[in-house]
Amino acid sequence: MEKERNNAYKAHCLVLSYPTQGHLNPMLEFAKRLEHKGVKVTLVTTRSMSKTIHKEASSIALETISDGFDEGGIAHAESIQAYLERFWQVGSQTLAELLEKLSSSISGNPVDCIVYDAFLPWALDVAKKFGLVGAVFFTQSCAVDNIYYHVHKGLLKLPLSEPEILLPGLPTLQPQDMPSLIYDLNTYPAFFDMLVSQFSNVDKADWVLCNTLYELEPEVVDWMTEIWPLRTIGPTIPSMYLDKRIEDDKDYGFCIFEPNSDACMKWLNDHAKGSVIYVSFGSLAALNAEQMEELAWGLRMSNSYFLWVVRASEEAKLPKNFVEETSEKGLVVHWCPQLEVLTHEAVGCFVTHCGWNSTLEALSLGVPMVAVPQWTDQPTNAKYIMDVWKMGLKAPADEKGLVKREAIENCIREIMEGERGKEILKNAYKWKALAKEAVDQGGSSDKNIEEFVTTLVHS
Ligand code: UDP
Repeated sequence: MEKERNNAYKAHCLVLSYPTQGHLNPMLEFAKRLEHKGVKVTLVTTRSMSKTIHKEASSIALETISDGFDEGGIAHAESIQAYLERFWQVGSQTLAELLEKLSSSISGNPVDCIVYDAFLPWALDVAKKFGLVGAVFFTQSCAVDNIYYHVHKGLLKLPLSEPEILLPGLPTLQPQDMPSLIYDLNTYPAFFDMLVSQFSNVDKADWVLCNTLYELEPEVVDWMTEIWPLRTIGPTIPSMYLDKRIEDDKDYGFCIFEPNSDACMKWLNDHAKGSVIYVSFGSLAALNAEQMEELAWGLRMSNSYFLWVVRASEEAKLPKNFVEETSEKGLVVHWCPQLEVLTHEAVGCFVTHCGWNSTLEALSLGVPMVAVPQWTDQPTNAKYIMDVWKMGLKAPADEKGLVKREAIENCIREIMEGERGKEILKNAYKWKALAKEAVDQGGSSDKNIEEFVTTLVHS
């Protein structure tokens, strides 16, 4: 496609996200960093997702494509597999239509590059058809990406049969440290196939961008950089919380759920430094009622103050009268401004499901973690949190996979009052400083983004 370029020419990137909060957040933050470096960015999500997000003022344009389920997304598909297949078919077609529209618009810039979510590898085929640069964006850790890569190549035989798993660049892993979709192949086979398919055409991508920072996982990043033009660009956390290089950063944001911001911050303001446990299991995880009950009583038994995010869809699983009976100790909300909460000095510990965004956010903001992983990449993230970054403790589960109340209480007490808590806090300060350095001017991720942008402008 012939591009009309003049002096005011800005490289134009489409940033295409898989439609969940945990994917949209990091891709939006990356988009903001590109824009800060002078690239024009159009964020692309699905029509169904765009209807549910609260979009605040943003200089980043938003466009939509269709996943084939404009009225409800995956929840309206008859199966995960049916959803993903239709998304591939309708998504490719509507992405191509969007590119046609943007290239024919007189006022806009034609598109130069598509940064696409690794969950949507078909977007690379569309990019290539239009002669565009294709950059795959991995929202999970490099360690987890490397595990799926080995499955894709047939280098990691499934089902797992060895008590220890040795992969290049990774610590020795036990089967239960592996992503749950690999450890237990029967749970969500369609998601498993999608995660393995991330690597189906990755060799053809012009760039492989990973939402991590080099300092967190240098061995595996070095190993993967031997295979692909891989660059670490994280942590994708709003600038206002880290390097403060993007002004008015707070104005941009997408949020699927409405946060109870005022109530949370007012409540935190009334509590002493380091005295509150923040608890959240992210936007998707659904705990079973027994686990919810153990968690509730574990929090109560720790005798600490707690701010607990229980999504509206999970609320019925809370023990009867728990909220009323613990109101002097805890605040339960449906959603909160997590970054603001993690930055608040009252928060001393984060009980987390170890979603990759939450993990990166806690690492980058220096908050020790109690890891209670649920599924997908979370067990692997929990292994790293405890044994590699030494930034928290993993609450042990019993033989049925249940984390009992005593285990939660013990981990919280250890972090809030114990000797190990002091060591963990020291490490937390270290990771916080490294995360800030990585995205600040000249840091490892900043240099990588700069390189990416420079080649785009000259492509
Ligand atoms: N989050 C939030 N408010 C909450 C809980 C979570 O803003 O009350 C954000 C959190 O900061 C993170 C994202 O939602 O950026 C969750 O992503 P993560 O990868 O941790 O988990 P997922 O939701 O994908 O399981």
